[in-house]
Amino acid sequence: MTRPHVVVIGGGFGGLYATRRLARGPVDVTIMDSTGVHTFQPLLYQCATGMLSEGQITAPLRSLFRRHPNVRTLLAQAVDLDSTNQRVQALRPDGTTVHVPYDHLIVAIGVQQSYFGHDDIAPHAPGMKTIDDALTIRRRILDAFEMAESLPTAEQRQPWMTFALVGAGPTGVELAGQLRELATHTLSQQFRSLDPGQARVLLYDGGNAALASFGPALSRRATRTLEHLGVELHLQTTVTTVDACGLQITDRHGGTSRIDARTVLWTAGVAAPPFAHALAQATAAKQDHSGRLLVRPDLTLPDHPEIHVVGDLATLNHLPGVAEVAIQGGWHAAGQVLHAVAGEPAPAPFRYRDLGSAAYVSRGHAIVSAGPLRLSGRLGWLAWGLIHITFLTGYRNRAGAILTWMSTLASGKRREMVFPTRDPDTGQTAFAPPATPGPV
Ligand SMILES: Cc1cc2nc3c(=O)[nH]c(=O)nc-3n(C[C@H](O)[C@H](O)[C@H](O)COP(=O)(O)OP(=O)(O)OC[C@H]3O[C@@H](n4cnc5c(N)ncnc54)[C@H](O)[C@@H]3O)c2cc1C
Repeated sequence: MTRPHVVVIGGGFGGLYATRRLARGPVDVTIMDSTGVHTFQPLLYQCATGMLSEGQITAPLRSLFRRHPNVRTLLAQAVDLDSTNQRVQALRPDGTTVHVPYDHLIVAIGVQQSYFGHDDIAPHAPGMKTIDDALTIRRRILDAFEMAESLPTAEQRQPWMTFALVGAGPTGVELAGQLRELATHTLSQQFRSLDPGQARVLLYDGGNAALASFGPALSRRATRTLEHLGVELHLQTTVTTVDACGLQITDRHGGTSRIDARTVLWTAGVAAPPFAHALAQATAAKQDHSGRLLVRPDLTLPDHPEIHVVGDLATLNHLPGVAEVAIQGGWHAAGQVLHAVAGEPAPAPFRYRDLGSAAYVSRGHAIVSAGPLRLSGRLGWLAWGLIHITFLTGYRNRAGAILTWMSTLASGKRREMVFPTRDPDTGQTAFAPPATPGPV
């Protein structure tokens, strides 16, 4: 007798935890992911700033499920859905099409960066959602210091020594803090024409506070730490355009100005990936303004009890786009599927247990908000470390991250300072004539 086939699309937090639960059940599972790895997104900024390697924050799905013969891993990108015949249409790495039939489908493909309709900004201001993004950012940051070192005057060096970040949520704040630490600790004494500590890190946000979701008290403490680090925080300021040489901003008084900055990084806004639109079309599911799918309280799509959507891509009761929601959602969806397979379909509503959130600000400073508990400074930092180590996938990754953190703390040195000289976006190699002429 053939066993029910469950297809899980996406090997992030939602897909990983759904597959872990299904792996123990009387079902065959295909976990499909367009990268083939589980990426621990909360530490991407440390990969981008040379602290951790890409291997330390990822785990190949194939290896994670090697002991579960009922789980098959498929490196493919879902592009369309035939909900009548219950088949996912996906692309193999060589661009050919594969059709994957399912009895139950769990979609956990997360969200991608949004430029709020200004997609022309994307080539000039990479976002940070994937390992590719983190490596692109690492290359741009280290390249900028190298460019500055080679230029003869301070005036010419300044735009390369100016780093602008858009969005003062956890990712923007963490990246800004790491950039200043990279400049003041790791790179100090390594250059001869410039003082890396003079690098300006500008953090822009249209709202009233950095890390606003943590509440006013923790936000204030994080802001003080950022200022102490030398991050220049500009609130109630909107970035209107970005090009290869800088950005244009509108401040709280409506005044506009131009900032020369050769490195602009984008950490604001999310949008559903294209497959979400295909899924909505195939099932008549509704989407919110970002394209995320409106799910029923049990995380299924209306009229499709065989399709669950979990994690960042699902929208239900204003749940935040955080790892815990995806983990618990994936676990819940898998449980529902196993109930249905056992002939006990009892749609239970998804109940989210909020375990809190944490953000790293600088060495020895992090903020943690969990229920009534509010931690900051060193205590927050220790709690932050414990939380991240607990959820990082794989013992080797955990041990590696702890050792690397200890060594960076003790010496200021970072191990992962290598970057490709070819720009993966443009294909342009270093030393080729620039698209936009620079100073001679
Ligand atoms: C930089 C950053 C820092 C963060 N920090 C924190 C934090 O400190 N704490 C916290 O709780 N949350 C944090 N988050 C949010 C958290 O990472 C997300 O909420 C969580 O990853 C969502 O899980 P998910 O399973 O929905 O999607 P993801 O983890 O994004 O996984 C989606 C997966 O689907 C795959 N995929 C996408 N499209 C397709 C397709 N068409 N076909 C096949 N596969 C596809 C992708 O390759 C990916 O592996 C952070 C996010 C980012 C980007």
